[in-house]
Amino acid sequence: VGGCWELEARDGASEARAGWLTTRDGTRIPTPLFQPVATAGSLRTLDWRDVQALGYKHVLMNTYHLVVRPGLDVIKQTGGVKSFTGWRGSILTDSGGYQVYSLAARRSIKPDGVRFIDHVEGQRWHFTLESTLRAQLTFGSDFAMCLDVCTGLPAARTRVRRDMELTHAWAREQAALWPEIRETASIVHGDSGTPRLFGIIQGGVHDDLRRESIEVLSSLSFDGLAVGGLAVGEGREDFKRVAALCGPLLPEGQVRYLMGIGEPADLLFAIAQGYDLFDCVQPTRLARHGYAYTRQGKLAIKHARFTGDERPLDPSCRCSVCRSHSRAYLRHLFLLKEHSYAKLLTLHNLYFYRNLLNRARRRIVAGNYGKWWPRQYRALQGMVPEGY
Ligand SMILES: [Zn+2]
Repeated sequence: VGGCWELEARDGASEARAGWLTTRDGTRIPTPLFQPVATAGSLRTLDWRDVQALGYKHVLMNTYHLVVRPGLDVIKQTGGVKSFTGWRGSILTDSGGYQVYSLAARRSIKPDGVRFIDHVEGQRWHFTLESTLRAQLTFGSDFAMCLDVCTGLPAARTRVRRDMELTHAWAREQAALWPEIRETASIVHGDSGTPRLFGIIQGGVHDDLRRESIEVLSSLSFDGLAVGGLAVGEGREDFKRVAALCGPLLPEGQVRYLMGIGEPADLLFAIAQGYDLFDCVQPTRLARHGYAYTRQGKLAIKHARFTGDERPLDPSCRCSVCRSHSRAYLRHLFLLKEHSYAKLLTLHNLYFYRNLLNRARRRIVAGNYGKWWPRQYRALQGMVPEGY
């Protein structure tokens, strides 16, 4: 079995790379790639036709949420997540490791996995190393993630080290388990192709721990590596330093995934550090709160200055929303609390992300990404200026 990612071009003046990610049915998806988050099998406010029309062929879903609702039995009975949801593209599933952080009050970490009391009905769940991998195979995921221990920050170094060492022990065990359970689960499921498994780097904001984590994870037989444990409460400077440290140290021939990142400016920064794959709830969550992205920063549609503004959300955007609707109308829908504003802003924001990454990719292939991104980065930060 060959790799699932190949390099197409490298930028001259940064670590940025353009490549192709191959899904289990052989579809090749260009990287850098942003994965919209369809937590429990739904990309909120949209249906899959919208997602496909935006040009997305790949989304992320969360194992924890799918296991809690609708549950593995329903997914098994309906033939896997793709058949259950009707999504025809590919899927990467998180392992539940993020919920180790986000549901810290509802879980306890044991040597063999994580116990959760769920946020819906308060049921008890035991996510073992094996059950987490099996769940992702039952879903029919293209890309599965290792269960890891994601440390919320700030945290004492001793705690970060302990969580990292448990993450390493789990990674060793899961890398060893994977080939065998992949075969048995694939037979049951009947999906074609080979599902892939990615490992996750931890180590908090400590450079030496991050290096150690990369060394350990790189020595195991994963199909790609992710940097986890960022965007979990560390400061801006720590985020940028650790992301910049880890990117170039990850294996060159594999896909590099920076988990939970990020805002458009952060994506451009991360691409310059050599990452290929991203996910973040921001474009969809902020849309539901009335925020739209533009090339000059974020825009809060409720703002009084947009009351009679006949321009589109972003004058440079070619999405279906910007071609049809004014800021004035979208603001009107928002104030009426019409559901349609959330859908329209979600459509625009996801188009904006895809367009941004397409533009970034073209720059990488042309070899001038390193010169291009810093100016875009500055313009994307903060809120949109008066007059734009
Ligand atoms: Zn637009």
